[in-house]
Formats: sequence, structure tokens, C-alpha cells
Amino acid sequence: MTLETQKETRGFESEVKQLLDLVINSLYSNREIFLRELISNASDAIGKLRFAALSDDSLYESESDMLITLDYSNEHNTITVCDNGIGLSRDEAVENLGTIARSGTKEFFGSLTGDQRKDSELIGQFGVGFYAAFIVADRVVVTSRKAGLAKTEGVRWESIGDGEFSIETVERAKRGTEVILHLKDDAKEFANGFQLRELCKRYSDHISIPIQMPKEGEDEEGVETINAATALWLRNKSDISDEEYQEFYKGLSYDFTEPMSWVHSHVEGKHEYTSLFYIPGAAPFDLWDNERNRGIKLYVQRIFIMEESEQILPRYLRFVRGVIDTNDLPLNVSRELLQRNKVIDAIRAGSIKKVLGAIERIAKSDDYAKFWSEFGRVLKEGVIEDFDNRDRVAKLLRFSSTRDSLPDADVSLEEYISRKKEDQENIYFIVADGFGAAKNSPHLEAFRKADIEVLLLHEPVDEWLVSHLTEFEGMALKSAAHGDLQELGSEQEEQTNDAEDDKLVERIKNALENMVADVRVSRRLTDSPACLVSGDNQMSANLERILKATGQEVPDSKRTLEVNREHPMLQCMDHFQDEDEFATWASLLFEQSVLAEGGRLEDPAGFVKRMNDALLKMASG
Ligand code: ADP
Repeated sequence: MTLETQKETRGFESEVKQLLDLVINSLYSNREIFLRELISNASDAIGKLRFAALSDDSLYESESDMLITLDYSNEHNTITVCDNGIGLSRDEAVENLGTIARSGTKEFFGSLTGDQRKDSELIGQFGVGFYAAFIVADRVVVTSRKAGLAKTEGVRWESIGDGEFSIETVERAKRGTEVILHLKDDAKEFANGFQLRELCKRYSDHISIPIQMPKEGEDEEGVETINAATALWLRNKSDISDEEYQEFYKGLSYDFTEPMSWVHSHVEGKHEYTSLFYIPGAAPFDLWDNERNRGIKLYVQRIFIMEESEQILPRYLRFVRGVIDTNDLPLNVSRELLQRNKVIDAIRAGSIKKVLGAIERIAKSDDYAKFWSEFGRVLKEGVIEDFDNRDRVAKLLRFSSTRDSLPDADVSLEEYISRKKEDQENIYFIVADGFGAAKNSPHLEAFRKADIEVLLLHEPVDEWLVSHLTEFEGMALKSAAHGDLQELGSEQEEQTNDAEDDKLVERIKNALENMVADVRVSRRLTDSPACLVSGDNQMSANLERILKATGQEVPDSKRTLEVNREHPMLQCMDHFQDEDEFATWASLLFEQSVLAEGGRLEDPAGFVKRMNDALLKMASG
């Protein structure tokens, strides 16, 4: 026996051990999913063989009928899942059944909470795959031979799920893989023909490969096919029940929760394709993982080609799960080819419309609040990313607003417009770092007084959102913290007229020479003494903070201090003779304006000292 064929024992990668512990401990109440996972692997392996055989016919080895067989033994307490797919070489068995190659593994472990119920939901989303075998088995034996290899190059992999596996080269005439589960004592009930048929029907009916089992009954012989063996998406919509759609979703997405909605269509005409898209009930744990690029399975002529999403749906719809099946692409289509392909462009455009249509339907229902809280932040990216559908996406946006004291985002732009003031020309918004900072911003005082609604934007993506969404249905979107608000009523108009020769304003300007671009009397303020305002084309203070926080260089740009001439603090300042004292108060005015909008002071200790000096002086005076 050469070294190569020797039996050797190997340790699992530490992440596999961690996953195995989790699988065994937290999936107890969903134990039956082991069968779905193994059948799905078998079906994938058959898909891979078909795909490889497109360029090398000999891989079929004169057995081109694709089959999955399922069997069990009461006597030995075993279940066997067998396929005649691509199979595994010795190296592949070591590699694929001893490590977790999937992207997002690190994020997955990082997102675990230690709470068994929550973690079992996460693990469901992650997809336990092959390791699900250990939920019900205390010994798993995999025997396989890769299509195209000699029959002496079979492999046997075996493990009791304790952190190690053994691997050995064996002879195997048949290509493909056989997985034997030696059932745990408390899982013996699964070695039962009735139950296995039931589970296959429930979880694997849509697998397009026939699953065969020996016939049951005293004098029955031979095998029978126990699933429908047609891909679910190719069936007629009217023949598919909601339960079937839901089960299919769970198998597709590894999500235990029900999908919120789905849209299934057979498109005919210039291009023919079938699509089935699901909107999940909850955001997947890796929604913010930039590497993640899965979610949509692409089939060409029923053959699984790749799991992709970016080529088929834009990134802002990355939470969608589903299937596309078309005859219009070549079978050997690659990722690179997809990037510049007219057919995929047409499928993509059509798919976006279908998904947006599905979201629009949810928007009319009570589920939209839930949808928005799960996916709203991602959908906002659509305004930035998808120029063609910008208006459609904009209609789906929801915001918090000054109409409401809670941060619930439930105001649409259409609703805002429907109740705007008659002569109001702009849609007003404010962007701040957090709901509280937005809601209490001094910039909104005059809007409150004039009873003009302002949208409160308080998520990091909002800065980019408003820089792309400058108009909606003929109305401009305008920041309440930018520019001189000429349009805000005539009441304050007179004050501005005096502003030019207002001595107080001049004095403040001199005192703050290096800190502000200008000082002017405000039309915005009713209660606060002062606030800082950016120019119409200037970056907002919030965006500056976000950019600085991400380590980007931001050019220094001074803003305008607006003062509330009516405020007692300013009236007090008017009477100061001592220029030093005046300068201290002017600094305080500037610094409290920075603080009130959630900003950071350049010299916080200096501010505290100035404030204390002023307080003590007043106390002693
Ligand atoms: P996933 O299927 O999500 O990649 P699994 O843990 O289910 O993860 O399987 C790991 C790998 O093991 C698969 O990617 C595949 O390469 C291999 N594998 C599992 N089952 C089979 C099978 N029946 N035939 C061939 N290869 C298989």
C-alpha cells in the first residue's frame, strides 16, 4: 500500500468544530433538515456533472440517467443518500468535508450571540450543508469517486463528529457519492420509509432530479420515484400552493422564517426566461458584508450555472433571493461574459421591475413598516445606484418627520407633498447624526413656527441620498440647515433688512473672524440664540463628520453663524463694553452652535473654561 492510499486521520478546521457543536446543540428542533441538505448537495453534484459533461461527454461513463437514491435500514439504523453526480476525489473530500470554504464564515461566527434560539436562526441562514448530517447521526461514512477517475481512486471519508475524520483510498466502480448516516439512538425514528417520503415531499419535491426509494410493502419490488422531479419555478403558478412556495424559499435561502412576499413570472417575447424572486421576512446576517454576492441562482436550460446576484440584480436589491432560468444564454456562460451581455441586461432590467413591483405591493400593505425597518437602509442606496428607476425607488422611501415625535420612518415623499403648505416650493429635510439631533436641531425652529413639515434624516447613507435625490415630482429637496431661507415667511424679513447695519452683528463677526465665514441675523431661529449654516453648495457639517470619521481629508470650510436678534443672550451682549468679555460670549455662541448640532469642538477644555469664567463673573456681579 502506498502512502497515498493509506488511511489517515485528520483534524477538522477549527471553524468546522465550532459549527458542528452549534449544529448539534441548536438545531435539535429542526432536525429533519438534514435530509434536505444532503439531497440538495446530491442535486448540486449532479448539476456539476452535467455542466462538466457539456465539454467532456465521457464523464457520463455510459450512465447518463441522473438519479438520487434514498434508502434506510431498520436493522442497522442507517439512512443512505446516494447520487451519480460529479463525486469527490481524495483531495476534494479532505478539502470540502473538513473545512468551510464559504464566504462570510468569519462574519457568521462573529454574529453569534450565545443565545441558542437566535443562533439557530443564524445558523439556518448560514447554511449548515453537509454537517447537518451530524444532527441525527453519530457516525457518517462518505464513499465517493470523482467522475473520470479510475475505479481504484475512490475515497472513503468517515467521522463521528468529534473533531477528526479519517480518509482512505478505496475501490469504487460507480462514480458519484454515497453518504451513510448511522443514526443516533434518539434519531432512529428517521429510518422509516413513510417518514422519509414525507420529508422528501415537503423539502425536496422541487428538486428537478428524480429521488428514488425502494417500494414498500410485502410483495413490492423495485424502486419508485417519490418527488415531482420538476423544478418548482417551471411549473404553472396556479398549480403551486403558498406552502410549496414557502418551503422552496427555505431550501433556497437557508432561512427558517417565512418570506414576506414573492413574485413568479414566465417572461416571453424577445427574451424568454422564468424568474422567481423572494423578499425575505428578515434581513440576512450578512446583508452588510461587501464580499457577499450570492442570492440569485442562475440556471441555463435547467442546468445550474452559478449563484450570483450583482449581474442579475443591483446591489441595493441584495436582500432578494431567487432563481432565474433562461434558454437564451449559452451554457458555458461565465461571470465575465455576463458583464457584457445583452440578454442578461434585458433580464436584469426586467427583474428589477418585477422586484420593485413586489415591493410596491408590500408598500400598500401593513407589512411595509417591517419591510422598511429590515431593508430600508439598503433600498436607499437605489436612489444613488439606479438612475433609471430613481423615481420608482424614491416613492418607496420612508422618512421620520417633524410631524411625529417618534423615530418611526413612515412618511413618504408623496404624502409629504400632499399636505405641504399651499405656497411651499421645496421639500425640506435635515440630516443629522441620530434622530434626537435631527429632531431637536435649532435649524428647525422657524419651520415649526411656520408649521412647515421637515423630514428628519439620521442615517449615514442619508447624506448620499440627498446629494442624489435633489428633486421629486417637480419639487426641490432642500436642506433646512443650508443657505439663507428667503422663502421662510415675511415676518422675519424686516429683521434681515436691518442686518446690514446691525452693529452687534459686526462686532460678533470681528470677534469670530477666524472661525466663521459670515455672521447674519437668522430667519430660522425662535428659541436658540444661534446656529451654524452651510452655504447652498457647501458640504454639510454632518457629512464632514462622516468623512472625517472614515479618515478622509476634508478641506477646511467655514460656515455662517446665524444669530437670533431677539434672544436675551444677544440683547445682553449688545450692552457689553468690555471687548474681551464680548469676545468670550461670541466664542460661547459659536461653540454652543457646534454642540447643538451634534458636532465636536476643536478646543473643548477652552470652551469649559470660557463658560465657567462667564458663569462666575455673573454670579459675582
Ligand atoms: P455547500 O454545499 O454549501 O458548499 P456543504 O457543507 O453542503 O456546503 O458541502 C461542502 C462541499 O462538499 C460542497 O461544496 C461539495 O464540494 C462537497 N460535497 C458535498 N456533498 C457532495 C456530494 N453529494 N457530491 C459531491 N460533492 C459533495
